[in-house]
Amino acid sequence: MSTEQAMLPWKKARELILGLSTPLGPETVELSAASGRILTTDIVSTRQLPPWDNSAMDGYAVRAADVTVGAKLLVSGTIAAGHPAETQLVAGTAMRIMTGAPMPALADAVIMREEADEADGQVSFRKAPRPGQHVRRAGEDVQPGSTVLLAGALLSAGEIGILAALGRLLVSVHRRPSVAIVSTGDELVRADEQPLSGQIVNSNAHCLLALVEQAGCRGRILPIARDTKEDLQRCFAEAFSADVVISSGGVSVGDFDFVKQVFAELGAKERFFRVAMKPGKPLVFSTVEQHGRLTLLFGLPGNPASSLVSFELFVYPALRRLLGHPVAQAAHPLAMVRIAEPIRPDRERTHFTRALVTRSAVPPYELWAKPLTQQGSGMLRSLVGMNALLEVPPGEASLPAGSELCANLLSVV
Ligand code: AMP
Ligand code: MG
Repeated sequence: MSTEQAMLPWKKARELILGLSTPLGPETVELSAASGRILTTDIVSTRQLPPWDNSAMDGYAVRAADVTVGAKLLVSGTIAAGHPAETQLVAGTAMRIMTGAPMPALADAVIMREEADEADGQVSFRKAPRPGQHVRRAGEDVQPGSTVLLAGALLSAGEIGILAALGRLLVSVHRRPSVAIVSTGDELVRADEQPLSGQIVNSNAHCLLALVEQAGCRGRILPIARDTKEDLQRCFAEAFSADVVISSGGVSVGDFDFVKQVFAELGAKERFFRVAMKPGKPLVFSTVEQHGRLTLLFGLPGNPASSLVSFELFVYPALRRLLGHPVAQAAHPLAMVRIAEPIRPDRERTHFTRALVTRSAVPPYELWAKPLTQQGSGMLRSLVGMNALLEVPPGEASLPAGSELCANLLSVV
């Protein structure tokens, strides 16, 4: 079997990862910290919304049957928002009422101020009201006992608004995975150190931390691990307490690439190694069971572009799944885009081409992709200003400008 045949197609690799990523157990958080989290329980209302009939307009509360167009009614009072819902309308009169104020008993309609003429304590109306007009009925929004949110709901602004209105200040959501970030390499120094001859800054750790945070998780950068089995063992033994371990470097075929071996020595089960894609071919995915739960171990390649691309395609969906997102929505959204320049595919592997996708400003708001010029996997500049990964299938022929390709959108375009 050749090396190329031994490589897993990238979609299979992702399926396998998602099959082993299950949402984490529940934790209770305050509503003020719940944005972006996913509910673990249904929410059943114990309140009715609105709590009482109220006016949808600034205007006059009337009994519709009392109103004749142009005829004058006595203005018998004013009801402001925030006052108890105990007022009663005197038959044959109108009451000034403000938006959100409780409807007085006997009144069955509100006439907008814009349709009324008031002078000397009397008011006449230019239009006859329909019974029930501009009245918001008690319970028309939410009934007590009704299920307003289902387990699995993503808490966004709207969901948080309704939880607040129901007085639910503590909610049960899926726990956020803890993520340990390990960087391996004798050549690496911290970003606050001056690299000496032969050394480079550990930029991957910072890049990966930002990616982890963008995915809605908490990341922790561990001290750099040297390219010895002992140091890697020490480092990973500490990292394994996290829900997810992301390491970079040391997974290729170099003399000092021990990550795969050290995972196995620490009792982890290797699920796959090598994916038929570019960049990011060497990628080891293993799992280790600890205290009854599975820690996911991603050994990403060290080249900055390779580790970033591998993160977006494989780690991001896993993190989202642990957070409770449905499998179908775990990965980045896809869109068909047109390429602004020709692209030469790789002969054997899917090439995830880094690109900037923009939306044209006029209908039908087509998406256009401009491949970034430096596609070398060691090129940090190729990651600046990138917002999409184009999926370029393997092939011989160059794709002309204007061709359609599938893009993984890494941010909103
Ligand atoms: P490796 O996968 O360990 O063979 O590393 C591949 C390339 O990526 C080498 O040129 C490394 O120096 C570089 N590299 C590895 N780790 C990092 C890192 N944390 N930050 C930046 N570059 C790295
Ligand atoms: Mg290395």
